[in-house]
Amino acid sequence: MKGQCLCGKVTFEVASERLGIYHCHCSQCRRLTGSAFNAGCFTQADDFKWSSGEAEVTSYIEKSGYHSAFCKHCGSSVPNKSGASYYWIPAGTLDDTSKLEVRAHLFIDSKAEWDIVSSKGTQYKTKPTLEELTTLLHKDNS
Ligand SMILES: [Zn+2]
Ligand SMILES: [Zn+2]
Repeated sequence: MKGQCLCGKVTFEVASERLGIYHCHCSQCRRLTGSAFNAGCFTQADDFKWSSGEAEVTSYIEKSGYHSAFCKHCGSSVPNKSGASYYWIPAGTLDDTSKLEVRAHLFIDSKAEWDIVSSKGTQYKTKPTLEELTTLLHKDNS
């Protein structure tokens, strides 16, 4: 599966055929995206590779530890390493939307009043552990 930022300088490839994704409805993800939620997924670090533009990626880290990586030319969110064994990938950067399935909604308790949450996927008032989330997202992916 391939993905890229809006301007196309940052491109990458993921070995997985299918990916489970989650929507995070927290206030930080709202500010960052300017939208109702941030849609993302995790892939094993071994299954991820940059195709171009890794040097065009810059990042912003909040005092809370909240981390955002983005293309310095177009501002699109791009993948970033999450812990030792995963890459976090913004779902909207992936080309083939037919291979993505919503499995979880995080921070339902702090969602925007105007945000209508889809009925697909498990809803969490806050968030599950990273282990629980990645297990849910990777379940039944071939
Ligand atoms: Zn770009
Ligand atoms: Zn969030």
